[in-house]
Amino acid sequence: MLVRLLYASRSADVMTPDVIDAILATSRKTNPALGITGLLCHSGDIFMQVLEGGRDTVNALYRRICADARHKDVILLKYDEITERHFAGWTMGQVNLERVNPSILLKYSERAVLDPYAVSGDAAMALLDELLATASIISRSN
Ligand code: FAD
Repeated sequence: MLVRLLYASRSADVMTPDVIDAILATSRKTNPALGITGLLCHSGDIFMQVLEGGRDTVNALYRRICADARHKDVILLKYDEITERHFAGWTMGQVNLERVNPSILLKYSERAVLDPYAVSGDAAMALLDELLATASIISRSN
């Protein structure tokens, strides 16, 4: 049974490249053995992450992530049972939304700045699918 979980959060402190690198390093080390794939987006103090994998595994990882002191205000945007993965090629892809073409963000939100607290889960997921389609994801790692 595969599921896809999408959440957003705010960085607890100023988000620096070191924080993002540390999170991605842990993710890319841990996720392959767990069968987890996905994408981590960031912009300003905002994180938005999609996790795909087995239901129990995704649920357990989400609980660990929620308890991580490096971020706060974690909000579940979408949770679906799925028949296939969208992000199978990424142990954890990365998108800096500040570098994405603003027209992609504008397509799904009121302004060309990501505010996952102000968009529907469906719109946020559609944005991630568009990032996939437009090859905006970096650091393909498997
Ligand atoms: P431990 O390694 O024992 O860490 C316990 C706590 O220490 C953490 O909750 C955190 O608050 C803190 N901590 C851990 N490492 C650091 C560090 N380098 N710098 C500062 N504080 C630290 N993990 C994954 O395995 N896969 C993911 O896809 C994933 N995505 C994440 C996305 C975000 C936005 C965040 C904030 C974290 C993510 N993590 C991910 C990390 C996850 O929250 C756990 O830290 C990790 O899974 C290890 O779990 P653990 O119980 O062994 O924690």
